[in-house]
Amino acid sequence: MELKIALLKGDGIGPEIVDSAVMVLEKIAKKFGHTFIFTPYLIGGCAIDETGMPLPQETVDGCMASDSVLLGAVGGPKWDSLGGDVRPEKALLGIRSALGLYTNLRPAKLYPALRNASPLKDEIVGDGFDLLIVRELTGGIYFGERGLREGRFGTEAFDTEAYSITEIERIGKAAFEAAMKRRKSVCSIDKANVLESSRLWRKTMHELSEQYPEVHYTDMLVDNAAMQLVRDPKQFDVIVTSNMFGDILSDEASQITGSIGMLASASLGASKRGLYEPIHGSAPDIAGKDIANPIATVLSGAMMLRYSFDLNKEADAIEAAVDRVLEEGHRTADIIGTDKSRTPLGCSEMTKKILKVI
Ligand code: NAD
Repeated sequence: MELKIALLKGDGIGPEIVDSAVMVLEKIAKKFGHTFIFTPYLIGGCAIDETGMPLPQETVDGCMASDSVLLGAVGGPKWDSLGGDVRPEKALLGIRSALGLYTNLRPAKLYPALRNASPLKDEIVGDGFDLLIVRELTGGIYFGERGLREGRFGTEAFDTEAYSITEIERIGKAAFEAAMKRRKSVCSIDKANVLESSRLWRKTMHELSEQYPEVHYTDMLVDNAAMQLVRDPKQFDVIVTSNMFGDILSDEASQITGSIGMLASASLGASKRGLYEPIHGSAPDIAGKDIANPIATVLSGAMMLRYSFDLNKEADAIEAAVDRVLEEGHRTADIIGTDKSRTPLGCSEMTKKILKVI
C-alpha cells in the first residue's frame, strides 16, 4: 500500500516524538511491504513564527490532500501572551473542523508492567485494563444555542444540549465498528433519567445495536459510569458518549492509567482520513532534552494504521513491541516511578528499543 501521511510536528517536544513515530512507521512499512510518504506542515507556535498564523492554509490543504495526519503537540510559553485568534491552540480546533472530525477515540490502557503507575489499588486493576472512549466531538452542549437572558432570578446564562438522530447514529456506528476490532462490547453512557437529549440518544443507540448482533450492548447513566471507572475499569471495552460526558470521562480514564506519556488518540470523520495525536501537550519543560516519552505518539501511529488504513497486523506489531519493551523493564523518566534501580531511557533510546523489537 502507498499512503500519504501529513506530519504536524508542532512545538515543544512535538518534533522529537513525531520523529520517533515516523521511524517506527518506516520500519513497519519496510517489514510489511508498504510505502508511507511523509510530508511535514507547520502548525501552532512554529507556524505563527514563520507565517503569523497558527494554521496556515497550506497546512489545511496539505492535510486534505493526505490519507491521514499525525500531530505532535502545539503551544508553549513563548506564545502564551498572544490573543485568542492567533494562539497556537486555536489551530487544533481549526484543523479538526477543516477535516470534519466528529469522532474522538481515546484508549485508556494500563499495561501490566506499569501497574504501579495507576492510583487505583492492585485488587482493582489486577493485571491491567484496556478500554476505549468514543466521544462525540462536534455536537451537544459545546456547540448548542447559548447566551444571556432575563430569568426568574434576574440575568442568567444558558447553554443547550441538542443531538439529532443522525449525529447519534454516526458516533454510534464509530463505536460499534471500533468494538468489532476489539472485544466486541459497547457501553453507551447518557443521563436518560433526566435529559430529553439522552432519551433520544439511548433509543437511537438501542436501535443501532440491533445491526451489530455480535456486539454485547449495555447502557449506563453517566454518574454511575464515573463511579464504575474507578471501581471496576476492567468491565469496559468500548464506551460511547456525548461531547461533554466524553470530555470528563476520558480525562478520568486517562488519570487512572497514571501515565500521560503513554496515551494516544484519534479523531475521525466520515472519510477514512483521521487526525492522530498523543493526549499530552507540548511539554515545554522537557523540550529539546531528548527525555520525552515517545510511546503515546508511536501508539497514535498504530491507531492510524488500524483505523484509517485497516492495517491491523501492522498496528498489532507496534502495540506488541511497546508491550514487550515495557515488559523488558525499559522506562522513560515519566514512567520510571520510584524504582531507583532503573536508569531512564531518553526519547531516542526508547524509540530504538521499540524498533529493535519490531
Ligand atoms: P503537558 O501535557 O504538555 O505537560 C504536563 C506534564 O506532563 C509536564 O510536566 C510534561 O513534562 C509532562 N509530559 C507531557 N508529555 C510527556 C511525555 N511525552 N513524556 C514525558 N513527560 C511528558 O501539559 P501542559 O504543561 O499543561 O501544557 C504545555 C503546553 O501544551 C501548553 O502550551 C498547552 O496549551 C499545550 N497543550 C497542547 C495540547 C495539544 O497540542 N493537543 C494539549 C494539551 C496542552
